[in-house]
Amino acid sequence: MPEIKLKIKVFGDPVLRKIAKPVGRITDEHRQILKQMAETMYDDSGIGLAAPQVGISAQLIVLDIGEGLYKLVNPKIVKRQGKQSISEGCLSVPGVCVKVKRAKRVWVQAKDENGCLIEIEAQDLFACVLQHEIDHLKGKLIIDYASFLQKLRIKRKLAILRTKVKSCKLLF
Ligand code: ZN
Repeated sequence: MPEIKLKIKVFGDPVLRKIAKPVGRITDEHRQILKQMAETMYDDSGIGLAAPQVGISAQLIVLDIGEGLYKLVNPKIVKRQGKQSISEGCLSVPGVCVKVKRAKRVWVQAKDENGCLIEIEAQDLFACVLQHEIDHLKGKLIIDYASFLQKLRIKRKLAILRTKVKSCKLLF
């Protein structure tokens, strides 16, 4: 399998707005992409990464909040509970932080890279990252959660910011 260097796509790239395709049979190619996504995530000090962020429209995500790496295929939230809001940054929206209201606890069903069905019960930051990455698979970004005024500010910022600047603590 040739090594391909994955590059993070940033806001403005249409792939970030596309609904990612569900993965049918999981192949070596998917496993290779997941491996490279994990490397890219660690390289950029992210705690999560979704395939559309590297230009691949497939339902693949990786995440690691410091408790081990998860590689998930076709992840789906099956249950939500409670509320939380955390200031989130996104590798695809450099320099922008948005406080996003999300569920405090989520139950996610997915397949692992070998096709085995897994169920994850997550809370707090872990639940937040899962929701953030699954949003990416739906073409949704943190800026969609911003208030009207915040959106105007972000728009100006994004217009100026075309290079990658990391000003957020949590990037996914
Ligand atoms: Zn993101």
